[in-house]
Amino acid sequence: MSYVKLLRVAAKVGRVTRKYPAEGSLVTEYFRGTIEIDPAMCWGCGACALACPPNSLTTKVEGDRIVIEYFIGRCIFCGRCADVCPKEAITITKNFEHASKSLEDLKYRVIHRVSRCSRCGGPVGAEEEVRNVSERAYPVKASLDLCPSCRAELLAEALAKYHPRRSR
Ligand code: SF4
Ligand code: SF4
Repeated sequence: MSYVKLLRVAAKVGRVTRKYPAEGSLVTEYFRGTIEIDPAMCWGCGACALACPPNSLTTKVEGDRIVIEYFIGRCIFCGRCADVCPKEAITITKNFEHASKSLEDLKYRVIHRVSRCSRCGGPVGAEEEVRNVSERAYPVKASLDLCPSCRAELLAEALAKYHPRRSR
């Protein structure tokens, strides 16, 4: 579009911006802002962190704790975390004003106790998640308190026992 044409369109449409913050922000019905995690609903599965494009949500094991951390400074307000959360623990708010002098003010944490592998003691996942999945998945309950490495080892041992020729 030529410059003159652009000026004509602008003159016809008029001013479309606001004198924010004097005038107040334009927050529409479908506006997405920062998220809120309900710690009582969250079971610490980490699905939100896996789905988060800019790694605004992360999970890490710290001793006997699994920490889900939300860093507002990286959030692009896409809402994918809320889409994938199996517990509907994430709410998308309309908040977007988070100016702060401290990065720590922009961090929010949900903490869970870690469930340990009954074989090697390594971390399996959050206690709350393991307990809930165990209750629902009764037929495969035997391996739910094992970490992925021990599960793979047990599977390999079982295959070697029942299919000795394949395991060679
Ligand atoms: S996806 Fe939901 S339940 Fe899982 S860690 Fe994130 S907020 Fe918690
Ligand atoms: S809204 Fe998007 S960027 Fe922000 S925490 Fe959720 S998935 Fe990550």
